[in-house]
Amino acid sequence: MTKVAVIGAGLSGLVVARELESFHSVTVFEKSSGVGGRMATRYADGFEFDHGAQFFTARSPDFRHYLQPMIERGVVAIWRARFAELDRGTIVSQRDWDNDYPHYVGAPRMNEIGKHLAADLDVRRNTTVSMLEREPGGWCLRDSGRKNLGHFDWVVLTMPAAQTAALAPDGSDLHEYCKSVRMRACFALMLGFDAPLPLPWQAALVRGADISWVSVNSSKPGRPEPFSLVVHSTNAFADANISGDLVEIAARLRTETGEVLGESLEAATFYRQQRWRYANADNRDGADFFVDESVQLAACGDWFNRGRVEAAFTSGFGLAQELKGVALR
Ligand SMILES: Cc1cc2nc3c(=O)[nH]c(=O)nc-3n(C[C@H](O)[C@H](O)[C@H](O)COP(=O)(O)OP(=O)(O)OC[C@H]3O[C@@H](n4cnc5c(N)ncnc54)[C@H](O)[C@@H]3O)c2cc1C
Repeated sequence: MTKVAVIGAGLSGLVVARELESFHSVTVFEKSSGVGGRMATRYADGFEFDHGAQFFTARSPDFRHYLQPMIERGVVAIWRARFAELDRGTIVSQRDWDNDYPHYVGAPRMNEIGKHLAADLDVRRNTTVSMLEREPGGWCLRDSGRKNLGHFDWVVLTMPAAQTAALAPDGSDLHEYCKSVRMRACFALMLGFDAPLPLPWQAALVRGADISWVSVNSSKPGRPEPFSLVVHSTNAFADANISGDLVEIAARLRTETGEVLGESLEAATFYRQQRWRYANADNRDGADFFVDESVQLAACGDWFNRGRVEAAFTSGFGLAQELKGVALR
């Protein structure tokens, strides 16, 4: 059996691993304690926040087909929100999201999708792969202490472009390609309340401010009752302030959120922030994934296409079909 190492347990990595595991010996390495990557959920003090991906859509038949069993099991559900576009504090348009063009979420929380896909896979959590060493016929993986993590015939890199570049061999096509990709940062604020705020919508796109998005997380299907908000900064604000003091940045975004909502946020009983250094990728044309049969190295991830959940699926699923059909013997 061909031994395959998949580095990263986000959606793209888990899709590759599941597609290949019936035919090959697949080991997934994930640096975090949880799986799902940016399809993430934070729990604290009785509150839950999907502080990464908010929702996703499924345009391609392949993705819709892949989601169907998860919809039937209740791992994926439709979020029927009232959606508003705000220009700072003014509502410029609003409408209901309905079944005609579903906005999907993990249920009862976003990271449930990763957990579901990872079940039955060999996932080594809390394991950061820091080095790939080429050896005859394959690769040796090492952690930051140079500990040997195993020998593999094929390695599949599924992390954001900058992290992929750090592992791709210097001067390789993959390394050069990663360096041409621009990923954008984002700050997330998580706010929990004892009583709901009187907002006329559950999801809002914000213009003319340093925040770009506000969602009532507790309005998504299956979430616990306490009222919770997730706020995202604009990518531009986060890129410009990525090395700034996180507490100060969060205080500024919180003040701005209060102004945009026209509500005092003093009543928040829970308050946390998160810095996403590689949140989204600019849209790009080109291949959906990378394969180099000569050195048995492959890569996938949302950034091959655009920084979206469906792009991560398309990249991982396409790569798996390619590896099944042609390259991986
Ligand atoms: C704030 C935010 C909001 C977003 N909103 C939306 C949205 O509303 N809709 C939408 O469609 N998309 C959204 N996205 C984008 C979406 O989350 C991503 O496109 C998708 O989840 C990417 O999946 P992936 O598998 O390509 O990468 P990731 O999910 O990033 O997976 C990569 C994995 O690799 C692991 N890893 C990295 N380096 C190593 C290493 N050296 N060793 C081992 N493991 C490693 C990481 O821990 C991670 O788990 C958002 C993202 C963020 C951050």
